[in-house]
Amino acid sequence: MKTLLTIIALIFSYNITFAQNEWFEVYGDTLSLNNASEELTKDFQKQISKIDTTISLNRPKTLFNPMGPFFNSKNNTINLPIWDLAPEMFQGFCTVVMGSEDEGKELFGLFFNGFYVPHELGHALQFAADKRFDNEYDNEYNANIIGLLYWKNKGKKAELEKCY
Ligand SMILES: [Zn+2]
Repeated sequence: MKTLLTIIALIFSYNITFAQNEWFEVYGDTLSLNNASEELTKDFQKQISKIDTTISLNRPKTLFNPMGPFFNSKNNTINLPIWDLAPEMFQGFCTVVMGSEDEGKELFGLFFNGFYVPHELGHALQFAADKRFDNEYDNEYNANIIGLLYWKNKGKKAELEKCY
């Protein structure tokens, strides 16, 4: 009985641990990030369908990828990283830009585990709608606008302010 209660307590604390992640903050594990991204992807498709029911993103999957974030049109995947498994180069870049590791980690969370998720879905939308610009600058600019509008629509003004 004691063992059973211990197991239940462990499962419960496990769920609490994994429920603490929020967008715009560093995710501690790839499973939580993947699950959150899959939910966001479904919602993103729902928002698109409100505007145009003929456009389907064909259910892009989320993959953990230390080199993310990016959208891979070849296998229709949103590739996202987490801080703990990101290459030193990325951690170092964020740390140098912000001036400390703590602030670098915050920057990583704001963009790589936040802003860029609907940005990458913006690229998925560009391919699904067959509306790509002839240069990558405009494709990125357009994906930024899509990401920005998505988060504004979700009331993430404070998080976006931090990104600015
Ligand atoms: Zn992009």
